[in-house]
Formats: sequence, structure tokens, C-alpha cells
Amino acid sequence: MTSAQARTALKKYFGYDDFRPLQLSIIEHVYAGHDGIVLMPTGGGKSMCFQIPAVTMTGTAVVVSPLISLMKDQVDGLRAAGIRAAFLNSSQQGSESHAVEQAYENGELHLLYVSPEKLLSPGFFSFLKRRRVCLFAIDEAHCISAWGHDFRPDYTMLRQLKSAFPEVPVLALTATADRLTRRDMAEQLGIPDAKQFIASFNRPNLSLEVRPGQKRREQIVRFIRERPEQAGIVYCLSRKQTEQLAEKLREAGYNAEAYHAGLSADRRGKVQTDFINDKTLIVCATVAFGMGIDKSNVRWVIHYTLPKNLENYYQEIGRAGRDGSKADTLLFYSYNDYTTLKDMISGGGNAEIQLAKLERMKEYAESLACRRRILLNYFSEDHGDDCGNCDVCANPPERFDGTVLAQKALSAVARLQQSVGVGMAIDVLRGSNRQDILKQGYDQVKTYGAGRDLSTYDWNQYFNQLISLGYLYVAHEDYNKLRLAPAARRVLFEGETVELVKFQTIQKRKKQEEGKTAKRAAAPRSRGSLFDALRELRRSLAREAAIPPYLIFSDKTLEEMSAAAPTTPRALSRISGVGEVKLARFGDHFLQAIRQYGGEPPAARRAAVPPADAAPHLLTYDAYLRGSEVREIARERGLKTSVVYTHLARAYREGKELEITDLLPGQVMDWIDEAIRAVPDTAGRKGVLAYIAEHQQDGVVRSHHLELAEAYRHRNPLPTTP
Ligand code: ADP
Ligand code: ZN
Repeated sequence: MTSAQARTALKKYFGYDDFRPLQLSIIEHVYAGHDGIVLMPTGGGKSMCFQIPAVTMTGTAVVVSPLISLMKDQVDGLRAAGIRAAFLNSSQQGSESHAVEQAYENGELHLLYVSPEKLLSPGFFSFLKRRRVCLFAIDEAHCISAWGHDFRPDYTMLRQLKSAFPEVPVLALTATADRLTRRDMAEQLGIPDAKQFIASFNRPNLSLEVRPGQKRREQIVRFIRERPEQAGIVYCLSRKQTEQLAEKLREAGYNAEAYHAGLSADRRGKVQTDFINDKTLIVCATVAFGMGIDKSNVRWVIHYTLPKNLENYYQEIGRAGRDGSKADTLLFYSYNDYTTLKDMISGGGNAEIQLAKLERMKEYAESLACRRRILLNYFSEDHGDDCGNCDVCANPPERFDGTVLAQKALSAVARLQQSVGVGMAIDVLRGSNRQDILKQGYDQVKTYGAGRDLSTYDWNQYFNQLISLGYLYVAHEDYNKLRLAPAARRVLFEGETVELVKFQTIQKRKKQEEGKTAKRAAAPRSRGSLFDALRELRRSLAREAAIPPYLIFSDKTLEEMSAAAPTTPRALSRISGVGEVKLARFGDHFLQAIRQYGGEPPAARRAAVPPADAAPHLLTYDAYLRGSEVREIARERGLKTSVVYTHLARAYREGKELEITDLLPGQVMDWIDEAIRAVPDTAGRKGVLAYIAEHQQDGVVRSHHLELAEAYRHRNPLPTTP
């Protein structure tokens, strides 16, 4: 077996041109007959590491997986790609499993998925020995280790595999295992010297955002409204929360369902199936949800409350965007969530470690530095640069002298005898005339009303900061009352200054979001676009084939298809994700839809669909219309950002609609206008740029800015100066 054969199979069956990092090394390692341990994040592409050997090597690859509910989808997906796969587990009828066994014995299977108990059932090894097994793949391999978090006793029997089949390579795969767990895994599987392949945990297509946990439901409704037709999961802490939120979302007009361990198995199965088939777009779930699904087109994940640790958090957000296309994640955080978890954990086993992990989770949520760097650091990866795709990168915190503010807050706590919680302290600061405040005589306290100028929301932020900075702490054992830490003295009596971080007010955030919504709504990705038409087609083909839509083509593939709008089978086969069998089976349908769409005249639509052989700047423009930011377009299309600007300028000149002035930072347009007026035409672009460099100290104008400005002036000429 060679790497060329592996690559051919990748294109033929899956329609992909390149392996992701490590995939090929792992495959070659298997070809050489060695055992291996694979650690890759969820969505990282672990399956490919055993699927390619399975379709290229002689014999059958046996995949052991504890997630029975997943097997059918995995097998369906493989079959849709023309791969001969089947599964055996306890959910099957006798006749069904008999047919599978027969197929194995006839040597017809590339892959056979089995549950651990099936694999270890009496006589199964000798059954397997009737034909040739080319590879054992152990999925979710961390389950074998008592160190891991999902320990399954039946997995420990898997060590028999290596002794029964010493010559067959064993590949253990997991998305979650620290160093200790990995070593234990290898020991337990009897492959102590197996090479370890550890992929980067970075998932750059996932955006990261943390918001203060106020008005969560309203925020969630807004978040969903901005993402029409997109599937997502909201993780909640309790069963009740899942039900209340789902109810609320239904009231708001969204198709949402609750999912938790208290529901009947039937009900859970139905919610899951509907979600996988894009019938239910939103599931509000306790953490039980997601383990058993492989759906690649989950476009967002929200955490209604703080997860217990970063491992859980990362695994859960990892369920979004497996197809590699852009996906958004949002975590709500409040200090209360943290204390609730702390109380829960404190009583349980292993409390010390769990609490330390919770602290790291809290640090992440409160971080004022790039969140991805913190996450990757946690997973022992050094990520040199800020990511540009998290809320901190998007809105770097602004610091200010918060001494007066801190004095007010600390003095309120002192004057309230350190006997109230955050909520009451804020109400007193804001001069609320609530009954209980008046009754307690808190309106007589000197700081009463001293903080009217700030909203409750803002005060909450500042109290959180004062707590993290160590001026205040929360007495959990005494109804979460606020107490002054020794450092508070220094602020109150010794003139210590306090630097705080300015937070965006709710109003400002709302405005920004509304701006974004308006922009997105204008982009045709959501309604009436080619993407939309292809998604609809995918839905109906999926219904016919009785498989989930994402198994026909991923969102990413549809995006590429709608951007390139191929009209011939050859051009279609070049789209990533279109393999031979899918091309033969679905190609005509998609080509027809594309042609039909391109042939329809409505002006608004036409603008969005470049013809198959569109000029590059129109493809860039199309990506812009679909709502992508310049940086994303550059990444997607493999262009420099300056080239993206040049393309957009050209499209604009040619009469396409776009908000060109939004693309120019700050006052750049004014500067350029001024410069164009000041320098003679003969000075050219260089002259204009030189003039600006000389006259504007605090900004850099680049030539792509100038191109945009020129395009703008081309269509909107300056009034001529007399
Ligand atoms: P994991 O099992 O690690 O969670 P999967 O194996 O399900 O991840 O892969 C996630 C997604 O990435 C799938 O949609 C898969 O088709 C896609 N994928 C895997 N390898 C590649 C590749 N080399 N090029 C493009 N897409 C890939
Ligand atoms: Zn970042």
C-alpha cells in the first residue's frame, strides 16, 4: 500500500483532495503493520485514519465503538460514498445480523462496526478468524482507562484482542485523553509501545464568545434570529432548564426540543433523529446529548451555564462545525453559575482536582486575553498569535482608572456590614427603593444611590472584576455574602488605585448585533440563494434515501458548490466532498438545480450567482454577499486580504452593490478625499499615499484602501471645487 493509493481513495470515495495533518502518517503507519494511538479533537478527522486503510487494504477493518446509536449513521454515510460497511450490535434482529455475518464471511466488507460486548461475545474471535481482519480500530478509546472520564468496564476486556490477533495492527482513537490516560490506554490494550499521534486541538473555524449571563433567554432568541435555518445545541445544567428554554424558544417561533436523561428512550431517540435529519433545528439539552451524534452541520453551540471544566467545554463546542465550515459558539457566564458548580463539586469525589479544573474554566470565562490561546495552552499547545476569531480579539478590552468606582463598591460592602450579596449591594448603590431596602434602613447608608450612573448590568461586571482582582470574595458558606478581602483596605484607606476593564454596555452590544443582522439579512445566503436551493434539494434527496441530509453532502460542500456554481459533471467533481459514487448518484440533481437557478432572471438573484466560469473578483463578491468577512474570504479563497479588497473594489466599479465605506476604517475616506483634492492627478496613487502619510500621523492607508475609495468615487463623484 502506498500513499498514492491512499490519496486516490480519498478523492474517489470522499471527494477530498488533501489529507489533514497527521492523517497520512497514521495511515502509512497502519500500512506498515504498526499499532498506534491517535489523539485528535472532535471533528478533527479521526475516522479517515481507519476508513482509508479499510478501503485500500486486503481484508476487513473492524471498528469497535461503544456508541451504538452512531453506528447506523456512520454506516449509512459510508454506503452513500460507495463503501461496503455494516455493523453488528445488540440492537439488531437476528436475521439482520446473520446477513452481516454472511457478508463478512464472503469477504464483502471494507468495514465492520461492532460494539465491545459483541466483539467479546463467545465465539466471535473465531468467527472473525474465518476471514482476514486488516485492522482493529478502537474508537472512543479513552473509555478503556479508569483514568479517563467515561470509563467502561467492558472495554477493559479489549486487551484480549492483541493476544488473539498479534499480527493485526490496533489503532486506538480518542478526542479526549491526557498523558496519563493515553499511557494507560496503551497498557490496557496491550500495545504499550504504540506510537502516539497527537494532532493540534485548534479548530479555527469555531468562533469563541463569552457573554455575561444576564437576560440569557432574550440573548439566545436574538442569537438564533440571526442564524435562520441553522442547526444548533444549547447545553443546560438541569432538566428543568432544558424544558423551560425549549418552551420559550417555541413561543418565540422556533422549532426547539428539550433533551435530557429523564425522558423516555423513545422520546430521546425521536429528538435525536429529528435533529440529525434537520427536522428539529434546535435542541436544548443536558450534556447527555451529542455523544451519540456525528452530525457535521451543527452551526452553533451555546452554553447556558458554565461547564465544569475546559475538557467538557471543548468537547461540547467541538460538536459544532465538524464539516470545517464556520460555526459559532457562545458561553454565558455569571459568578453565580460558578459558585453553584463549586458547591456541587465540593461534596463529590475527587473534589480537589475537580475544583482546580473549575478554576481554570472560570479563568477562561473571565479572560481578558485571546480565548483560543488560553484553551490551547490548557491542552499544552502553544499558540503564538492571537486568533482573531474570539470576542476578546474582536473587542480588545479597554482599561481605565476605576479607583472611584471600586471605592464606591467596597465602601458599600463595608457599610452594609458585609452581610449582603452582590445583587443587594448593587441595588443599594443604584438607590433602589425596593421594600426590603427601605425596611432594612439601607437607604440611610452613605453610599445609597452613589452608583446611579451605572446600570445593574455594568455593576455586575465591575463586581466580578473586583472579585477576580482579589478585593472582594464571596462567603459561600454564608449565603454568598460579599466580604472585604485584606486588599480592599488598601483601596479604601491607603489610596491604592484600581485599574478596571471597560465593558460594552448592553445597549451598545445590541446596536452592534442589530447592525450585523441587517447586513446578514441583506446577504442572500439565508433566503432565496443558490445555497438555500441546494440545501432544499439535499433535504428532499435525504428523505428519499432515508439518510440524514449531512450524509449526502456537508454544508461546506454545498457552500463551495454554490460559490463555484459548476454546470458540468467534471466541474462538479472538483468540488471538495464530491466523490465518484455521490457524483454518479446525486450529481445530475445538483447540476440541474444549479442550471435552473442560473437560468432564472430575477435581478436580485442573479447578482448572487456568478456563472460557472465567473471571474475571480465575482467569486469573491459572491462570498462577500454570503456574509463572510474579508479575512474569512481571504482564507476560504486562498487570497491575500489586499487582493480581496481589490476584487471588491472592482465588483463595485462594475455596478455591484456593497457597503464599500464599511470596508474603510475610520476616517480613511475623508483623508483620501482630502489627498485627492490636494495632489495633482499626475502624482498618481503613490502621490496620494505619500500625501496621507505626511499629513495623517495616526493611521496607515494602504493602496487597497485607495482602490476602494477610488471605486467609490467613481460612482459617487465629489462635487467639483470651484
Ligand atoms: P472525528 O471522528 O475526529 O470527530 P470525523 O472523522 O467525523 O471527525 O471528521 C469530521 C469531518 O471532517 C467529516 O465531515 C469528514 O468527512 C471531514 N474530513 C475528514 N478528513 C478530511 C479531509 N482530509 N479533507 C476534508 N474533510 C475531511
Ligand atoms: Zn482570540
